[in-house]
Amino acid sequence: MFELFRPTFQAKSLDSISVDQLVQQGIRGLIIDLDNTMTPWNDLEVGPKVTEWFEKVHAAGIKACVVSNNKRKQRVAVVADRLGIPFVFRATKPRRRAFRAGMQIIGTEKEDTVVIGDQLFTDILGGNRLGLSTILVVPISDREFIGTRLMRRAERVLIWLMKRFTAAKPHSPKAR
Ligand SMILES: [Mg+2]
Repeated sequence: MFELFRPTFQAKSLDSISVDQLVQQGIRGLIIDLDNTMTPWNDLEVGPKVTEWFEKVHAAGIKACVVSNNKRKQRVAVVADRLGIPFVFRATKPRRRAFRAGMQIIGTEKEDTVVIGDQLFTDILGGNRLGLSTILVVPISDREFIGTRLMRRAERVLIWLMKRFTAAKPHSPKAR
């Protein structure tokens, strides 16, 4: 059961993900979460590092689509427009529908698309359910939607369980 919550990769931030490596892995499409992945929660400002990172993404010929659970269309649109990328709002992640919609917009397939987000229960679970690669990033800020804050507690418990689960590997003969 833990497998569905396990990201394929982890990164410190969106802009620390190597675009060259994405290209080498044959990635052509990115489904990217908005709040606390691209910008601080409910903030319209896109940092210079994130802007620069998207320029590299565009230059590499990789397509990106914002897929956000945020219900306010205007808020999602402002950021996406600023970066020149399409978006899906009110996505109801971890449901799979919006991930499929995102891939359809940018014209990529499961095999060459990666989901990037800061939450296990929405971004990572949703991407994994659909069989996509997933990258978990550290949330940009502590400020969050109240529902998300509650979810973080459950997330911490899950991470603890996952660590214990992984630590329960048999000892190697050398260690004995
Ligand atoms: Mg988020």
